[in-house]
Amino acid sequence: MASILAPDGLGPTVCVGEILVEIVATTVGDGFLEAQPLVGPFASGAPAIFISQCGRLGGKAAMVGAVGDDDFGRVNTDRLKRDGVDVSAISIDPDYPTGSAFVRYRKDGSRDFVYNIATSAAARFGWSELVGNLIDRSGHLHVMGSALSVPSARAVIDRAVDIVKARGGTLSVDPNLRKELKLDEDTERRFSRLVAAADLLLPSGEELERAAGVEGEAEAIRRLFEIGVKEIVLKRGADGATYFGSQGDRIDARAFVVQEVDPTGAGDCFGGAYLTCRRLGMSPQQALTYASAAGARNVTVLGPMEGAGTRQELDAFIASTERRP
Ligand code: ATP
Ligand code: MG
Repeated sequence: MASILAPDGLGPTVCVGEILVEIVATTVGDGFLEAQPLVGPFASGAPAIFISQCGRLGGKAAMVGAVGDDDFGRVNTDRLKRDGVDVSAISIDPDYPTGSAFVRYRKDGSRDFVYNIATSAAARFGWSELVGNLIDRSGHLHVMGSALSVPSARAVIDRAVDIVKARGGTLSVDPNLRKELKLDEDTERRFSRLVAAADLLLPSGEELERAAGVEGEAEAIRRLFEIGVKEIVLKRGADGATYFGSQGDRIDARAFVVQEVDPTGAGDCFGGAYLTCRRLGMSPQQALTYASAAGARNVTVLGPMEGAGTRQELDAFIASTERRP
């Protein structure tokens, strides 16, 4: 089946947004009110995790964002370079530190965060000549809902969508709306516009209904195709994932059986792998298999993107891992 996404040959997949380090509490409990053991820094930020997985799988990939002139920034840029990601449009802010997120898991699986994003380098970038040069030759734009809460990212995304689409490129959107991130009215409107312009939508759980603005899975899917989305892949955590095509076709993919060490980044690796496989010409079925493997493999390793796999690593993972019944 021909892909509804622009082929890899048109130019890199570009992701715009927050670049962070993550520092993880090694014990489970409530928040950060006492001194405690921590591990990190790990390269992070949902858009960065996504683009790392694209690069590792052998897709053309590039990132737009900013880091500080510090080791936390270098952890990120070194990592993305190693993954084959074009970092020419990542700027280095001379005055502000690299963004960070401290995370601690609670007993019930929920997370407490201490963020430094809005007042860090992560939120201080904008359109520049280097960004323009990249967007002018890019083939696909991927937008994370989380990036919409960063004003500088919003401005770049608005401009990039039009340029990429005008040259025959495509758009994917992961709503990725954490409950901690509240959207104001203007951001909510932008979000709706982006959803309607998306060729591929990658929601997780209840984000599907939120993006569609209607209740019920079947209703939401119907509505999204009606407003112009071309392909939808719904992520269901350990319950797997489902592909929906605009002609009413559907493929369910069972999750792989793994020991979960750190769930952060599963959805971003899943999305990066799915998109890259589709842009490289694979069928939805084959892309779903790689995406499910990428999500599952990533949760077996501590650190948000430490388990992102190469094509070879994912092939080995698929060959050696059972799937859930
Ligand atoms: P994130 O927390 O990164 O935002 P998400 O909610 O966007 O994640 P998930 O549905 O949690 O996305 O994970 C994406 C995919 O990764 C799932 O559809 C599944 O294929 C795989 N996956 C995630 N968690 C597990 C798990 N515990 N076991 C097996 N596979 C998993
Ligand atoms: Mg998600």
